[in-house]
Amino acid sequence: MLHRWIFVSIASLVTATTLGQEITSNSTKSTAASSLACGAIRHDLGSSIVESSGSEYNATTQGPWSLFNSVNQPTCIVYPRSASHVQAAMSSIFQFGSHYSVQAGAHSAMVGWNSINDGVLISFAHMTNTSYNQQSDTITVQPGVHWGDAMATVEPFGVSVIAGRASDIGTGLLLGGGISFVSPLYGWSADSIKEMDVVLVTGQLVTATATNKYSDLFRALKGGANRFGIVTRYELYPAHTGTKDQKNWFGGIIVYPGSSSVALNNASARYIREVTDPKAGLIVILNTMNLTAVDANTVYLFYKGANLPTNIFGSFLSIPSTSTSLSLLSYYDISNLIAGSSRGNGQQFGASSWIGDEGTFLKGYNHLINFTRAFETELLTSDMIISPIPLSQWTARSSRGVNAIGDPGVPYAAINFHLIYPAGVTTIPTDVDAGFKLLLSQASSSPGLPLYINECDASQNVFNTYPTFATLQKTYAKYDPSRFNVEHTAGPIGL
Ligand SMILES: Cc1cc2nc3c(=O)[nH]c(=O)nc-3n(C[C@H](O)[C@H](O)[C@H](O)COP(=O)(O)OP(=O)(O)OC[C@H]3O[C@@H](n4cnc5c(N)ncnc54)[C@H](O)[C@@H]3O)c2cc1C
Repeated sequence: MLHRWIFVSIASLVTATTLGQEITSNSTKSTAASSLACGAIRHDLGSSIVESSGSEYNATTQGPWSLFNSVNQPTCIVYPRSASHVQAAMSSIFQFGSHYSVQAGAHSAMVGWNSINDGVLISFAHMTNTSYNQQSDTITVQPGVHWGDAMATVEPFGVSVIAGRASDIGTGLLLGGGISFVSPLYGWSADSIKEMDVVLVTGQLVTATATNKYSDLFRALKGGANRFGIVTRYELYPAHTGTKDQKNWFGGIIVYPGSSSVALNNASARYIREVTDPKAGLIVILNTMNLTAVDANTVYLFYKGANLPTNIFGSFLSIPSTSTSLSLLSYYDISNLIAGSSRGNGQQFGASSWIGDEGTFLKGYNHLINFTRAFETELLTSDMIISPIPLSQWTARSSRGVNAIGDPGVPYAAINFHLIYPAGVTTIPTDVDAGFKLLLSQASSSPGLPLYINECDASQNVFNTYPTFATLQKTYAKYDPSRFNVEHTAGPIGL
């Protein structure tokens, strides 16, 4: 303790002296602050938990799904084994005013949201446990687990997490909301959270639930992304979906030629508007780079039952396809159909939200085609991904407390414009970025709909689209009055 006090005292003197006399540029300040924070954290936790070089450090820096995030070099990476390690790290980060970032499954498509230069990266690579408690009927996950591994651990008990639709994604999904194939039945993934242990910016650890004194924080975390604290434990209500041998779903994948695009847009708009059966699950991926390809478009479609009812999926089933792979499946099978684990390319997301209207879909899709044509030499590919958000997704688990996103009262589609850049491109080209922002304004949301924060562009003010924006701002001011998070870590704008 004495050593810690001496270290901190000397470091504080150094900070005061250097900040007062020598340091002029922001980047030098941030390097000094992160060096001091790393030194203090290393002093407290030891060099096996705090690394600034070596094979694990290199693997973590190169681990992000988007290449744009794997070129950063943190001053140090902290690998906590417990909440108390995160508390120690956050206390020093706060004390020295260091920039920082947090990484769980590393799938953020937003630049800097899960990696950092001249700052401290907290990686959850060593906190990856999942367990199921049969007595309480809850699943506890540590933040570093990927959904595929969590599913594999709990599947033998006949339960599952309300995971994303790609097995490699991590728990950061919960903090943005989380859209699962079973969300129409069980709600947003975030609505499955029973309680969270959260380290606030000051290093204080609290447990937030829907009913305790941190219920405002609990709500804000479910859609507030990385702005409200660092979650070190999630306790989740499971979905009782059965084991991997219980094939109680039917569905799979249909691949379509490029010529199907208009018909698929129309089928999607109609599905959004008309389908209310929560046993149906769907995602539509329209490729807008190679419009003449025989395998341009892919649709994943599922129904909890023995077949795909034609009154729900008839429009999709009647469009001529290239290949079809449909069968009886368990939910475990469904959750492993998409891995999403490829690496090596820069990625960019942009979000919109549309009501089920054919004209809106076609207009937005055509804007994406025009954008793609304008920048086709600079892009590897571009997709429009359509995720239905039916009314049941809000009501399925509303008794557990509402989330931060806020039910707009109408069914809609969360639209993800997804760009992939060629290998070797390590930053977003400014001309493409400007074109993309124009696209997002041209293909903007239908009035009154929230954007999905896990699929947004970094420039989009998603919080401002939540009906409860003012409450969210108040909650942020309450838990981070010095605005440390928004000033020291990249993440959603607007608070
Ligand atoms: C291939 C692919 C498929 C996808 N499919 C789906 C899908 O089906 N449904 C869906 O809803 N979304 C989907 N997404 C989007 C996904 O939800 C987001 O990318 C999500 O943020 C990823 O979480 P992560 O833990 O993998 O990533 P990370 O990049 O590690 O984390 C995402 C953000 O959350 C922050 N964060 C992570 N953990 C914590 C924590 N414990 N405390 C505080 N902040 C934290 C990070 O700092 C970062 O800003 C998909 C993304 C990809 C790339």
